[in-house]
Amino acid sequence: MAAILDGKAVAEEISREVAAEVQRLKKTGVAPCLAVLLVGDNPASQTYVRNKEAACQKVGIASRVVRLPADITQEELLRAVEELNEDEGVHGLLVQLPLPPHLDPRPVMAALRPEKDVDGFHPLNMGRLQAGEECLWPCTPHGIVQLLRRSRIPLAGRHAVVVGRSNIVGKPMALLLLQEDATVTVCHSRTPDLAALTRQAELLVVAVGRPRTITGEMVREGAVVVDVGINRVDGRLVGDVDFESVAPRAAAITPVPGGVGPMTVAMLLFNTVQAARRLAGQGLGLEGGARAYGAGAG
Ligand code: NDP
Repeated sequence: MAAILDGKAVAEEISREVAAEVQRLKKTGVAPCLAVLLVGDNPASQTYVRNKEAACQKVGIASRVVRLPADITQEELLRAVEELNEDEGVHGLLVQLPLPPHLDPRPVMAALRPEKDVDGFHPLNMGRLQAGEECLWPCTPHGIVQLLRRSRIPLAGRHAVVVGRSNIVGKPMALLLLQEDATVTVCHSRTPDLAALTRQAELLVVAVGRPRTITGEMVREGAVVVDVGINRVDGRLVGDVDFESVAPRAAAITPVPGGVGPMTVAMLLFNTVQAARRLAGQGLGLEGGARAYGAGAG
């Protein structure tokens, strides 16, 4: 039976490190602050934003939620971003997605000040990630790298298969795994014979958004399986991986909930502190964000 990769516990460890860093920064006159722009009243988004506020509070990061009406225009939203870009008291800035359908998220992401872009969705940060340069790493793939490192799972030379190619998870995940010297295959909805590829994976990362897409017979014996999916089925949260049939074959697996989700929030806090340090001129290579706190690295 697979070992459980306990994202909740590792996220708490990272949160403690972030809290210590927040205290240190405050002594130098810098009080890290995360601003969240929330447009409309999507209930899931409201829950995510509340969770982010609570997580900030736990580690001493100030949070500011700017709520905007669902019928706001693109120009008004861009102006709100601009105000927070210029606000020196704000270090991290994110726009909660999805936006209402009449708003185009791309110019909004491009309007974020890249140094404050704690989600890592600004085109400049995406390009820097691709080039292996210093930048803020997107929280979910960053969290997965941290979880694997701190669970002492080696990545170099391993065959990693990523299922999903979204800009938020799949693509940056593939790039970060390449930086970790894995050999990476990326699959998507047009991949014929998905199982033939997933069965080759020593590390399998699944970010599809469909419950139980990956079943036991699709997984190689002894693989490490990371389930990014969050799906609500009959009032229960389930991943994209069929835990019951996959866990007996895997060497290690992330549960849903309690796996990747808490890591994503922890890395948002981490990125906010990185941004605060950097904006305050306190350096800290963002390079290898995962390496920035020594603990557990390697
Ligand atoms: P998207 O819908 O943006 O992307 C899904 C990807 O999966 C696409 O690339 C799609 O392919 C691919 N795909 C869909 N169906 C199949 C299939 N049958 N076989 C192979 N590939 C398929 O989703 P996200 O990446 O944003 O999110 C994925 C999941 O992760 C969701 O459940 C989401 O809720 C969850 N999530 C969890 C987070 C966390 O913190 N734990 C954070 C972010 C997301 P194509 O490109 O060809 O359409």
